[in-house]
Amino acid sequence: MESRKKILIVEDEKSIADIIKFNLVKEGFDTELAHNGLDGLDRALHGAPDLVLLDVMLPELDGFQVCKKVRETSTVPILMLTAKEEEVDKVLGLELGADDYITKPFSMRELIARIKANIRRTEVMVSMQDEPSNITDFGNLSIDMNRYEVRKDGTALELTLREFELLKYLAERENKVFSREQLLEEVWGYEYYGDIRTVDVTVRRLREKLEDDSSDPKYIMTKRGIGYYFRRP
Ligand code: CA
Repeated sequence: MESRKKILIVEDEKSIADIIKFNLVKEGFDTELAHNGLDGLDRALHGAPDLVLLDVMLPELDGFQVCKKVRETSTVPILMLTAKEEEVDKVLGLELGADDYITKPFSMRELIARIKANIRRTEVMVSMQDEPSNITDFGNLSIDMNRYEVRKDGTALELTLREFELLKYLAERENKVFSREQLLEEVWGYEYYGDIRTVDVTVRRLREKLEDDSSDPKYIMTKRGIGYYFRRP
């Protein structure tokens, strides 16, 4: 029997928090509520949630600050709730380490689909650690395609699941150029409501981790006007 998953809901608008909670409980999740950023941060770090649903506009500490702080020590999946008029928030949230975002107003059905997808992805990552190694070397970069591990000059890099999946997808298809739209569809996997800047942000974060000089990349290359590809240096 799979254990029940616990979702931490960090949302100051009580009516929204309550309706989310009601629907999640109906779906078989355990829930915990926090109505401000400080309480949310504390519960995210010490309450062992399986996923954090994090509103952006919060009293005490806003969602971005919470996200950033959580990411300093935790890899718990974070799904940010952003308002439609706050386009920039999506990208900022992803830059700070959120795994996904959903724009208000959203349907409960979509929210639950997103939560399940993000939890599933984490489970996949955990189960990968038991797989036999399947390492491919690309210059001084070595990628274990099965175990989701990347090393550069022998030193392990801390990639998020999404960063790893994007790297793996491109590296397995060396020199082939993909548009941002293609990458969103293939790597993000489910019907994604995000925009193509999500791909750019993830590429930028990957480069910062992989490249000696992220402004002069040697692995993940830009094909101007088309998209991205992976190259063996
Ligand atoms: Ca709010």
